Amino acid sequence: MGARRGQDYLQRLDEEARDVWIEGERVVTGITSHPAFRNISRSVAALYDMQHDPELRDEMTYISPSTGDRVGMSFLQPRTHEDLSRRRRMMKRWADYSGGMMGRSPDYLNSSLMAMAGAAGFFAEADPAFGENIRRYYEYVRENDLCLTHTLINPQINRSQGPAAQKDPYLAARIVKETDGGIVVRGARMLATLGPLADEIIVFPSTVLKNQPEDAPYAYAFAIPSHTPGLKYLCRESFDYGKSHFDHPLGSRFEEMDAVVIFEDVLVPWERVFLLQDTKKCNEVYAATNAVVHMAHQVVIKNVAKTEFILGVVLEMLDAIGIDGFQHVQEKAAEVILTLEMMRAFLRAAEADARPDAWGLMTPAWNPLNAARNLYPKLYPRLAEIIQQLGASGLMALPAEADFRGPLGPAVERYLQGRNADAWHRVRLFRLAWDIAVSSFGGRQILYERFFFGDPVRMWGALYQSYDKEPYRERVRAFLERAEEGEV
Ligand SMILES: Cc1cc2nc3c(=O)[nH]c(=O)nc-3n(C[C@H](O)[C@H](O)[C@H](O)COP(=O)(O)OP(=O)(O)OC[C@H]3O[C@@H](n4cnc5c(N)ncnc54)[C@H](O)[C@@H]3O)c2cc1C
Repeated sequence: MGARRGQDYLQRLDEEARDVWIEGERVVTGITSHPAFRNISRSVAALYDMQHDPELRDEMTYISPSTGDRVGMSFLQPRTHEDLSRRRRMMKRWADYSGGMMGRSPDYLNSSLMAMAGAAGFFAEADPAFGENIRRYYEYVRENDLCLTHTLINPQINRSQGPAAQKDPYLAARIVKETDGGIVVRGARMLATLGPLADEIIVFPSTVLKNQPEDAPYAYAFAIPSHTPGLKYLCRESFDYGKSHFDHPLGSRFEEMDAVVIFEDVLVPWERVFLLQDTKKCNEVYAATNAVVHMAHQVVIKNVAKTEFILGVVLEMLDAIGIDGFQHVQEKAAEVILTLEMMRAFLRAAEADARPDAWGLMTPAWNPLNAARNLYPKLYPRLAEIIQQLGASGLMALPAEADFRGPLGPAVERYLQGRNADAWHRVRLFRLAWDIAVSSFGGRQILYERFFFGDPVRMWGALYQSYDKEPYRERVRAFLERAEEGEV
């Protein structure tokens, strides 16, 4: 089959029964017609359609080594620097489509799976069948261009205890038993972004597991279709309120949805199991396979796209209301520019210093990507704050599209105009700024950037612990010795 069109994606979603719950309502089939999912599913479909745009085809796809069909570029296993550039160009194109507001465009998890399959040997060390399983699964997803979600963390019930010591050992998803057909899993995981609209879910190791026997039933990695019996997605309320693109420019397009994932004695077939009861391997998997590096590569490309988009919004705002001459306003705009240039520099450094890894994949340098992914959770909320500081009451004085056509239309035109913009254009722009920095959609974006890659506190701690600190300490020791020895 190879690279899909949007219609293929939508059709498969509608036909495959799934167990999705939203505000007490169950959605089984026809999910792309549901108000909470209609618009975002069309946005994902638009990404897939780009793969068939004659002008973009070569940028978005490559020839599959196994079938000769064209397949999505984010599945490409990079062997050269140019391959990394090809991956970047494709991923940037997708990120630009939403101004970086779709964190879970399919390339994010395609990158993870691509790297894991490249490092199939890591899984094979545990069991040769696992190595074969991950390789075959990657090819299956690539050739069918499936959309994946993933869920990594246990329910937030009592974080002072591990999964086995919770009130009930089956609160966190746990292996119940092994059968001839596969493993049976019961419990829950949170949180799967885009879950209800994904063809498949990958359920990978949760946060660091202690190397204790009681943790073994929580140590696994597998993937199953979203329509697997017993698998349920429990959604939060939607932030797509059915408004027009004018009124809610982002929420009406890119509301990705997040869902708790419930496993009611779900049978995972053996061919979909990649790790089992192996806490050590589970704790190592993202680093040892370099999946985290390729995911971070996608994330930093998205960060560049998102910051470029926000910079554009900020600059338009300054012009629209004539505040571009004020010094502190320029300083705030400059802060957005600095954020952008930082992300660009990290991305460029990571690609320039890329090296083949132990598995033969050309792998971006980790330190710049790690720096970028740890900084952005601090920088992104500040970008939203800058929009609030610059927009001020303009982020509340926001008549709806209908007001332009209503009896107060002339007043709206008169009082909501800008310096160089009529009211329609000024309000449209400020509604976009509001959807980035004030709306429930915007609030979720901030929370997403803070947390989606993990708890920032523990990530900074992990960075500190893993960083090669010795050369710097040694340099200072040598400097102090130099003084002792009477050198200048
Ligand atoms: C919008 C959004 C989308 C997401 N999408 C996905 C997804 O698609 N798939 C997925 O798997 N995950 C997803 N996540 C979850 C994300 O991985 C987690 O939010 C992140 O790992 C932090 O875990 P937590 O939310 O359970 O916070 P917790 O671990 O419960 O932390 C809550 C607070 O307690 C502190 N804390 C807790 N435990 C410790 C500890 N041991 N040491 C020090 N401090 C501690 C934390 O620092 C934090 O301040 C998403 C999150 C968000 C917000």
